Amino acid sequence: MKLAIELVPIPTMNVNVRSHISSYRWRQLSLNIQRRDDYACVICERRKGHEVHKLHCHEQWEFNEKHEIQRLIGLQSLCFQCHMLKHIGFADMQGWIEQYALIEHFCEVNRVDREQFAIHLHEAVQQWMHRNRINWKVDLSAYTEWI
Ligand SMILES: [Zn+2]
Repeated sequence: MKLAIELVPIPTMNVNVRSHISSYRWRQLSLNIQRRDDYACVICERRKGHEVHKLHCHEQWEFNEKHEIQRLIGLQSLCFQCHMLKHIGFADMQGWIEQYALIEHFCEVNRVDREQFAIHLHEAVQQWMHRNRINWKVDLSAYTEWI
């Protein structure tokens, strides 16, 4: 799937670059990534100032279950809808899903129907519950390249 739901485990939800640097530095970093990404969402390709109001900076992770390492592998510019879909598991998001037409956006970007969305969400939640039980060591070493 071009736009996949990737839920961060609960124990490491706040262990990330964003929480390690000041909001000013995060903003600068985010702007640098947006410039690199030509001011467009890297998934749905909608452009800032045209189809979308603003872009978010998303932290991409790789999960090595054998060694229990959650490693930061990149930062990418995402539009609001793509970014919300990445984090869709949150309990308080039910209203948001409808208000911002998130399921429609998922189906449009991936060219799938609502049933396929439901299957993908279910699988992502199952994987997330499994990952919540792992004692992750978070590797942020790659982030120094970007600041
Ligand atoms: Zn997008």
